Amino acid sequence: MGFNLTFHLSYRVRLLLLFTLCLTVVGWATSNYFVDAILEIPKATDFMANFNKATVLEKEETLTDKAPVKKADVKNCPSMSPYLIGRSKLVFKADLTLEEVQAENPRVHRGRYHPEECKASQRVAILIPHRNREKHLLYLLEHLHPFLQRQQMDYGIYVIHQAGSKKFNRAKLLNVGYLEALKEENWDCFIFHDVDLVPEHDFNLYKCENQPKHLVVGRNSTGYRLRYKGYFGGVTALTREQFFKVNGFSNNYWGWGGEDDDLRLRVELHRMKIFRPAPEVGKYTMVFHNRDRGNEVNIERMKLLHQVSRVWKTDGLSSCSYKLLSVEHKPLYINITVDFWSSP
Ligand code: BGC
Repeated sequence: MGFNLTFHLSYRVRLLLLFTLCLTVVGWATSNYFVDAILEIPKATDFMANFNKATVLEKEETLTDKAPVKKADVKNCPSMSPYLIGRSKLVFKADLTLEEVQAENPRVHRGRYHPEECKASQRVAILIPHRNREKHLLYLLEHLHPFLQRQQMDYGIYVIHQAGSKKFNRAKLLNVGYLEALKEENWDCFIFHDVDLVPEHDFNLYKCENQPKHLVVGRNSTGYRLRYKGYFGGVTALTREQFFKVNGFSNNYWGWGGEDDDLRLRVELHRMKIFRPAPEVGKYTMVFHNRDRGNEVNIERMKLLHQVSRVWKTDGLSSCSYKLLSVEHKPLYINITVDFWSSP
């Protein structure tokens, strides 16, 4: 009986031990599985970020959607940067060089900058159509870089250069800028910027709103008055989605004028309203120049403007064909050179 009880007890103890051992093994195996799964999450996030990048033109996102936060301890930037100084008196030095502007902007790399101290709410691409305006470009870069840094913007500057000497097409260059810039970053906001307009007041924020924004309320050359009620030229800001929704600019405006009015009509057709900053803030200096050769007034523009509601769907981003000649990452900007006359 004594032996039987001992045997019985030790049998129970052995069963208990076996059970505990099994539990330990199962516990160890599942904890390894969860650790692996946790390690996998960042990879999945990266994958989704890339996937989102590829499908950017289809997905509806709000302005508050953010890229995956890399440093958990970086706070969001304040809605009003503490570095803003207000209106500046702009000076354009005749002998300014690119090297000087580069030396003044040591934190800009390959045309891009983002604040170290906080996370900006939007990634902003500045698109500048260009041909033979090196001096204007230099003045604009000189002022725009510190201006955007004071605004704590996360930005990239793209200069889209039209090769050859045939008629200039500002609107098509901006479509190219949008399409090419999206290949390297999922920009939230696009600023379509003339090369000869320099902002005077850094409260004029280079970011997008819930409606398309027109930033040039006035310029020195017109007594700082809005040119006309529907004026939508010079500098405008549209989110990735707003611009995609209207199928971008028309590709058919060769020479000067009309393409900005066409974009306004597209915006209005989509029942969006144009937002403007206060007149004291939306002030620009226009650096003087004569009309360029190859950018003569487009006499077709009134005719084209009558067709917008009929053609916007088929003429725009969806039909923008071009031959990409080069994409160069210079220290202060990304230079995209494009040819509109040979087949892509
Ligand atoms: C043209 C626009 C231009 C505006 C202001 C209009 O007649 O169609 O393209 O921006 O004048 O100069």
